[in-house]
Amino acid sequence: PTAIHWFRRDLRLADNPALLAARDAGDVLPLFVLDPALWEKSGDPRKHFLAGCLADLHEATDGQLVIRHGKPEDVVPALAREVDAVSVHVAGDTGPYGRTRDTAVEKALGDVDLVRTGSAYAIAPGTIRKDDDTPFKVFTPFSRRWREHGWPDPAPRPRKVSWARADSEDLPEAPDLGDTELLEPGERAAGKRWKQFLDERIADYDDQRDRPDLDTTSRMSAHLHFGTVHPRTLLHDIAESGQKGPGVDTYVTELCWREFYADVLWHRPETAREYYNDELKGMTYASGKHADEDFEAWATGRTGFPAVDAAMRQLLAEGWMHNRMRMITASFLVKDLHQEWTRGARYFMQHLVDGDLASNNHGWQWVAGTGTDAAPYFRVFNPITQGKKFDPDGEYVRRWVPELRDLDAKLVHEPWKAPDGVPEGYPEVMVDHKHEREVALDRYAKARGR
Ligand code: FAD
Repeated sequence: PTAIHWFRRDLRLADNPALLAARDAGDVLPLFVLDPALWEKSGDPRKHFLAGCLADLHEATDGQLVIRHGKPEDVVPALAREVDAVSVHVAGDTGPYGRTRDTAVEKALGDVDLVRTGSAYAIAPGTIRKDDDTPFKVFTPFSRRWREHGWPDPAPRPRKVSWARADSEDLPEAPDLGDTELLEPGERAAGKRWKQFLDERIADYDDQRDRPDLDTTSRMSAHLHFGTVHPRTLLHDIAESGQKGPGVDTYVTELCWREFYADVLWHRPETAREYYNDELKGMTYASGKHADEDFEAWATGRTGFPAVDAAMRQLLAEGWMHNRMRMITASFLVKDLHQEWTRGARYFMQHLVDGDLASNNHGWQWVAGTGTDAAPYFRVFNPITQGKKFDPDGEYVRRWVPELRDLDAKLVHEPWKAPDGVPEGYPEVMVDHKHEREVALDRYAKARGR
């Protein structure tokens, strides 16, 4: 018999329980559906990464990966009929789009079972609950319970799989991104990068992770998103390494943030768009032509604030941005330009290679003060002092903003203080941060009815 394994956000062979379930059901037909609803919304770096992951998976499946283009609810049942499949196997997708899509596919499959095994998380969203069986709304108690719960060991990599065959469309082509250095895609690259981080960097992660100028974070986010690695494997490897201490602890906590936001979105899928905490529902925002121009300046890295511009340009070039810079740029859009977080979140989702509805939209809600954890809405990131503190030599800015390359560390975050003024080609600051901060605080106070 033939069983289809439909790869989605699990583009790997190792530690893939759904793939093992398919193997136990018959010869495995490895399928990837290029869903235009997802592909066409993606920026070039994300397309590039996904194309690379698929090329790697194609090789790992002995060249048998079947690519089909189209809506999954049409394509998957058609292929199941074509190869007379006994079942279709997937790793459960717990996001709103994936859940709706899978229900539609399941219905269209009729008699052929859609078998869901596992999820993209160490502990499946919806599992960790309070004593009264309700979901956690605050991170720290969730994380405590999450650690106490523990997680299963990784599933073994299947030694030999008998791959079934079917006609395939071409692998998608990776867009040309010139000489930008990109994160290497695929399961093997994920393993290599992870091993290096675990051996050399995790011990110092707690005090180094806030530096965008240094390569001190794991860069696992895109790999976790596309499932070229599973968090169970990461947690297992950390335990096996025998390392302990604040570096390891902080890293595990960061993985837990990912699980927490997925849990929040599982319980309240509407919070991908709507405010989690509706206290600020009545908030007003800048609108009209002027707001559109401001948004454009932010999106293209031309605000005149070097830290913001460097980060936004990195996002466009690489499809990735350092966590600290995500907070600074998001705060700038929401609190200096007075725009709704949903607009920035949509833009990030389009460009981030690791773009993940749960982590991204709840990251934005956190910055905007509308999310879980009652993030202090009155906290307004100062792009100048943050830049000086976390990019102290200006290396990060100089890397992404060539107009400022000749400025030294003292001036690079405040180019208007240079003896000859702001270097040619670089914009003047678009707003007065101090003033906009007051305006933002006032807007928040009004929305809260105080
Ligand atoms: P590391 O520092 O090495 O962290 C390890 C892993 O922990 C990450 O790969 C990620 O899976 C998880 N993690 C770390 N911080 C967070 C966090 N705050 N929330 C959730 N998970 C976290 N992360 C995404 O994966 N996708 C997104 O679309 C996304 N959008 C964000 C938007 C905003 C406005 C903010 C403030 C944060 C966002 N994050 C997002 C979280 C975080 O910025 C990235 O996970 C991190 O920068 C990825 O780099 P890394 O893998 O080197 O992280």
